[in-house]
Amino acid sequence: MGLVQDQAMDVEASDYPATAGPAVHDLPSLDQAVTECRACPRLVRWREETALAKRASFRDCTYWARPVPGYGPGGARIAIVGLAPAAHGGNRTGRIFTGDRSGDWLYAAMDRVGLANQPTSVSINDGLRLIDTRVMAAVRCAPPANKPTPEERDRCAPWMARELGLLPGLRVIVVLGQFGWNALWPVLAGMSYVIPRPRPRFGHGAQVLVEHPDRGLLQVLGCYHVSQQNTFTGVLTETMLDSVLRTARELAAGLDAGAGTSEQAH
Ligand code: SF4
Repeated sequence: MGLVQDQAMDVEASDYPATAGPAVHDLPSLDQAVTECRACPRLVRWREETALAKRASFRDCTYWARPVPGYGPGGARIAIVGLAPAAHGGNRTGRIFTGDRSGDWLYAAMDRVGLANQPTSVSINDGLRLIDTRVMAAVRCAPPANKPTPEERDRCAPWMARELGLLPGLRVIVVLGQFGWNALWPVLAGMSYVIPRPRPRFGHGAQVLVEHPDRGLLQVLGCYHVSQQNTFTGVLTETMLDSVLRTARELAAGLDAGAGTSEQAH
C-alpha cells in the first residue's frame, strides 16, 4: 500500500461505503476509495483532532488522519479482522496495526508462525511483508476510547465486505475480539455465506465453518484481541495467539490443499 493522501478526494455522504464499495473491482482501487471516506462525522473529527493534538512522543510526526485500509497480498488465504485503527498507531502511520503495542504483538506472532517476514511494524516503509494474509479492521477510522458505535460499525461494513470479496482464495478468517466477531457475521451473510442460527458465540479458539455457493468453505476462528488490556494482563499470551495463527495456517492449507503460499508486497 502506498500513502495516497495527495490524490484523495474526500467524500462525506453517509452512503458512500455502500455505494463505492461494490463499485470497485481491485484492492488498490478499494484502498484508494476507503481513504477518501468521511461518512462518520464523529470519527472524522476524532481522527483529525488526534492528529493535531498528537502524543508527546510523536510530536514530530505528521499523522495520516484518514481511514486505514487493509494490508497484505490479494492472493491471501487468511484474513485477520481487528476492531479499528489506534489513534496513535494506524491513524498516525497509515497502516493497520502499525506503530502501536497491539501491532507489536500481532506482527511478532505472525512472524513466529510464518505469516510475516519480520516481527516489527513501525512505519509504512519498514519492509514488512505479510505472507498469505491480509489484515484489516472492521471499522476503518480510529474511534474515541476504541469504541465505535453500532451505526458506525454498520456504515463501515461495506468496506470489509468488498475487501473480503476481493480475496478470491480466502479460506480462513481470524477475528480478534468480540467487536470484530459481531461485525463479521452480517458481512458474511450479505456475501451469501450460509451462517448458522443462532449466530455463533465469540470465544478464544472458537471455530465456525461456513459455506458459500461459489466460493466454497470458509473457517472463522475467534481470538482474544491483541489489545494491551489483554496482553498486559495475561488474558492473551503469546502461546495462545501463536496457536490460533498456526491453526489458521493449517486450516487454510487443508481447505485449499492445491494452492501455494502467496507472498507479495501490496
Ligand atoms: Fe468511512 Fe468507515 Fe471511517 Fe466511517 S469509519 S468515515 S464509514 S471509513
